[in-house]
Amino acid sequence: MSAPAETVDTLIHPGWIIPVAPSGQVLENHSLAILDGQIAAILPRAETARIAAAEVFELPGHALLPGLVNAHGHAAMSLLRGYADDLALMPWLEQHIWPAEGRHVSEEFVADGVALAIAEMLRAGTTTFSDMYFYPDACARTAQRMGMRCQISFPVLDFPTPWAREADEYISKGLALRDAVKHSRLVSVGFGPHAPYTVSHPNLAKVAMLAAELDTSIQIHLHETRGEVLQAVEAHGERPLDSLHRLGLLGPRTQCVHMTDLGEQDIALLAETGAHVVHCPKSNMKLASGACPVTRLLAAGVNVALGTDSAASNNSLNPVSYTHLTLPTTPYV
Ligand SMILES: [Zn+2]
Repeated sequence: MSAPAETVDTLIHPGWIIPVAPSGQVLENHSLAILDGQIAAILPRAETARIAAAEVFELPGHALLPGLVNAHGHAAMSLLRGYADDLALMPWLEQHIWPAEGRHVSEEFVADGVALAIAEMLRAGTTTFSDMYFYPDACARTAQRMGMRCQISFPVLDFPTPWAREADEYISKGLALRDAVKHSRLVSVGFGPHAPYTVSHPNLAKVAMLAAELDTSIQIHLHETRGEVLQAVEAHGERPLDSLHRLGLLGPRTQCVHMTDLGEQDIALLAETGAHVVHCPKSNMKLASGACPVTRLLAAGVNVALGTDSAASNNSLNPVSYTHLTLPTTPYV
């Protein structure tokens, strides 16, 4: 860190500073100086007496740390919070969420839902989020307007939704968005094939080829439940992770979301290919999907990130809270 300027825009005096690097450190009696929108210095508070600042924030009792990254979600579904609670994944999706989306989702729905989600995520300390949802152009516009960093994984599905009719249309619309925001400082765009049970193997292979050509990220729901894995073995004679590997979809640009049903051979394959895992514990608990073996993944050298999934399968967009939003069980009078 270079020496601070004598005049800065902002000085913050928190109770503690928790930096990313060096890791594992908590700094007390330290301050942070900001100049031109960038961190100019982290220094002992005693040394800030010589610095003039336009703004000074005294934050005793607060910890100052870099913004959190919510590595998986469907932000616009903040408008579906509490819809169809207490169901397992497939009846929740097939009998409730997908029909509701068919009736209600539009560009305006997405813009409003993303704005609400961003407000909630900021309150939880999240400054970057990953999103996979219909009308991703509305998400990109809203994130840019609100100054929020966002990785968009545009959805790819085999069946029609309000946004597109079949896989090729999802892909062409998504790639048009990628071109439109390629110079954005805040938004990046990659592929979001929904899951191996909603995207055919030929279409997954197409995504793998295009993502490799464009050197673009891929995010996919994978091994979310044991039922998904057993069904795939019955249909294709192999586990979904093995299918993805065979189709060229597993590698360092791939983010595998959920991963609750994992054997030792799956963990070894993730480590060998450099694919990432996004752990969404509250979603997995709410939908009774299973539990991701995070300790074993980390021990094998697999990179594991944390996500909330949508507000409809979590009820909160705070990645580090362990309490569910409590809604009244009887109507207000
Ligand atoms: Zn999800």
